[in-house]
Amino acid sequence: MHELELFSAVKANAGLDFITPLRKVLDSHWYVMGNEVRSFENEFAGYLGVEHCISVANGTDALELALRGLNVQAGARVVTVANAGFYASSAIYAIGARPVYIDVDSATLTLCPKALAAVLDSSLAAIIVTHLYGQLADIEEIVRLASAAGIPVLEDCAQAHGARRNGKRAGSFGAVACFSFYPTKNLGALGDGGAVVTNKHDMAARIRQLRQYGWGQKYQVTLAGGRNSRMDEIQAAVLRIKLPYLDSWNEQRRFIAKRYNAAFNTFDMRLPYSTAADYVAHLYVIRLANRPPFINALKLKGIKTDIHYPIPDHRQPAYPAEHPYPLTVTEHACETVVSLPCHPGMTGDDADRVITSVTAYFEQEG
Ligand SMILES: *Cc1c(COP(=O)(O)O)cnc(C)c1O
Repeated sequence: MHELELFSAVKANAGLDFITPLRKVLDSHWYVMGNEVRSFENEFAGYLGVEHCISVANGTDALELALRGLNVQAGARVVTVANAGFYASSAIYAIGARPVYIDVDSATLTLCPKALAAVLDSSLAAIIVTHLYGQLADIEEIVRLASAAGIPVLEDCAQAHGARRNGKRAGSFGAVACFSFYPTKNLGALGDGGAVVTNKHDMAARIRQLRQYGWGQKYQVTLAGGRNSRMDEIQAAVLRIKLPYLDSWNEQRRFIAKRYNAAFNTFDMRLPYSTAADYVAHLYVIRLANRPPFINALKLKGIKTDIHYPIPDHRQPAYPAEHPYPLTVTEHACETVVSLPCHPGMTGDDADRVITSVTAYFEQEG
């Protein structure tokens, strides 16, 4: 029996013609930040309903440049969560700022508005909200609280391309938002890629400069803190081919997630919070008390699982951090989460194979 992967690049790219656009790039002899990049930036901004999209080299650079775009300085304090893979933390540490970790909501595993309200004060420089696993956080409430305190919200949408609520997409709620186009993301390139999006004209202009050495014009550095973080034409051409499929791929992901949720709802485990449009099922993550035997039982059936993520940010060996606020839900999540296969290349039959194995496990357990 074939192995069921968490993600399949073979299936994700099946049937798409990448040769024609790649040929176009090769024939143009223009490889970095040209027409394909400009067109992708416009098309992605249009898809999200935002004014500006600035493509960059990857999602972590996007976070770092967005923090710089917000003028977050070295030594500043940035609120974020500790269960989201250390990406936001990497960017915060990269600019010499400091993370202030607060707990996540136990239903969505995203930043908890109540925990935010308890720590908000004007000494904070920014808030990074990760729409984890493809689930939109309670972003309207978070933005409302943050705006009242005068603190900008940065959305990390690297797992949430296309997620929407009340007609607004992930990335259009806060002051600025970041995307990754790493191959396994809901919209993935054939290599690395990322983007920063915003409605704010001045910030967009600053980030455009910062992604290329801080140049105002060629060889003239008019903005400090710049670096090289550009998207190349080949990745942009591939992303332009894939963008029109994003909504239907997300629909297929949700179809798998719904099938799982319906089959698992009597078992002793916690299921994803939503299977509506505010969840794009980047990962289908359950929580259960005794994880190792479950993982092993699925492995024996040829079903791969993973843990997103096993170590909370404040316990990473290289960056042990104080955490003055309770992180009870965060720490419990790290000990109980398991990701099951869920990607748009999966069929209903593939999902049923997972369901059969999970059901067998719980029946033999109970
Ligand atoms: C993948 C990911 C990133 C980082 O993106 P890269 O392109 O790998 O740098 C950031 N945040 C989240 C939530 C991610 O899942």
